[in-house]
Amino acid sequence: MANMMKAAVFEKIGVIKVKEVPVPEIGDNDVLIKIKYTGICGTDWSIYNGWYSADKLPMIPGHEFSGVIDKLGKNAKGLKEGDRVTADINIGCGTCFYCIRGEKLLCDRFSQLGIHTNGTFAEYVKAPAAQVHILPDKLSFEEGAFIEPVSCVIHAAKAMDARLGSSVVVIGCGLGVLHARMAVLRACAPVIIFGDNRKRLQIAKDMAADYAIHIDDIADPVAEVMKLTGGRGADYVIEAVGSVKTYEQAFAMLRRGGKLSAFGITGEHDEMKIRPFEFVLGEKKVTGSCAGVGSDWPDAMTLISNGRIDPKPLFSMKVPLEDLDWALHELRKDMSLFKIFVSPDITKRELM
Ligand SMILES: [Zn+2]
Ligand SMILES: [Zn+2]
Repeated sequence: MANMMKAAVFEKIGVIKVKEVPVPEIGDNDVLIKIKYTGICGTDWSIYNGWYSADKLPMIPGHEFSGVIDKLGKNAKGLKEGDRVTADINIGCGTCFYCIRGEKLLCDRFSQLGIHTNGTFAEYVKAPAAQVHILPDKLSFEEGAFIEPVSCVIHAAKAMDARLGSSVVVIGCGLGVLHARMAVLRACAPVIIFGDNRKRLQIAKDMAADYAIHIDDIADPVAEVMKLTGGRGADYVIEAVGSVKTYEQAFAMLRRGGKLSAFGITGEHDEMKIRPFEFVLGEKKVTGSCAGVGSDWPDAMTLISNGRIDPKPLFSMKVPLEDLDWALHELRKDMSLFKIFVSPDITKRELM
């Protein structure tokens, strides 16, 4: 009989069951990782509600993780049992038009571990050895489980490629807080962040954002940006909410020649209004970015382990695997929570 492990299986929409399932069997190019922590992400909530990957249920989600290598496939090079690791979750086919161009995120058969295939709300996960990253000694397992979201922010920052001394607006104070930090690190100024959560805006301020503005305190974010940029508009705007309204605001607050970083995920069929005029005579530009991939992962580890980004103020709580269902709902209710980590090894909730 196969070895068994505990896992949180999303059986159908709105139903999570923690139960015994077989430990994944690894192939020659894989490793088996014993999970330490998995951060809960908005994507997990979307899967729970059937907004995303509904055709993949039943499955085990979880994609922001850290753990220890338990077993190596025979082609797994440069790794050993006991290594503290995380893994790039993005899997390309390797042979399509996009993969050959090195654009794995656009792959025709793109999938992500824990989003389209079984992930890490479990005791063990199987991952391709080539995508495993060893955590630097200075990184805790909790920080290791936060590499994935930071890599997404880094990917977007590279695509946007903000120039030193330029103004940056961030709309949204989820991962927006880290976008603001990244803009500070790139020597942008002023860095302006809008959000609906005072605690998170304070964290952004502590991370050296110049203006952290609650949307209830102002009449119109566009007018506010005009005021703070001498009437010109922002050089760069990062939309990190994912609504049509905020995308339209983002375009409106860009200066001529400015660039929008599209980061927040809207509904698949949502549509926004833009005047083509803005692209032609205004020379406005857009960069999209959907995940962190390849070198974005070691770059995230480098920035955290050298203290350029300190994610700890964003860590709220650790909970046992059995509390995943509770935690998913609690994150919707309690605005003071930011990142909750799930662990198969702990038995009670711990505040961080
Ligand atoms: Zn995520
Ligand atoms: Zn491909």
